[in-house]
Amino acid sequence: MENAFQTVQDIIDWNGWALVWYLIIFAVAVLWVALVFWTLKDARKRIEDALIIAVAVATSLVFPFIGTLVYAILRPPEYLADVRERELEMRAMEAELRIARSCPNCKEPVREDYLVCPKCRKSLRTACPSCGKAVEFSWRTCPYCAADILPSRASGYPVGEATELMGGHA
Ligand SMILES: [Zn+2]
Ligand SMILES: [Zn+2]
Repeated sequence: MENAFQTVQDIIDWNGWALVWYLIIFAVAVLWVALVFWTLKDARKRIEDALIIAVAVATSLVFPFIGTLVYAILRPPEYLADVRERELEMRAMEAELRIARSCPNCKEPVREDYLVCPKCRKSLRTACPSCGKAVEFSWRTCPYCAADILPSRASGYPVGEATELMGGHA
């Protein structure tokens, strides 16, 4: 019994404990500083407002670990670059839709399946002779029923003119 107690006492009295303790504190401090820098790096990619970035970094600095955790929970889910890219894509798509869905003659909004502009009577598409769906003048085959579309002049507009009026991107 005396022996076991002595062993425990020896372990407690070991001089190396101070060193271990310092190493642990050092590691924790390094992790803390690294998390503060990570917060700064991450916040700059996600947040535009410099003040909010400063608050996020300060929170991470003043409340070690907890502050970083709170930031990680509350941070915006997307990178600014992704948000901007998506906005650009959406704007381009909207512009494309607007072009595709307005009458080339009077700019009246028209639906994809309109054959004639309801406002100015401009012929927009032709009807498939087989299934009756709206098809572009430039198409040679109906994409809905695979029937060949003869360059009919029923609409009165030659193919070339129609594609040119549609914006030239045939
Ligand atoms: Zn029109
Ligand atoms: Zn068809």
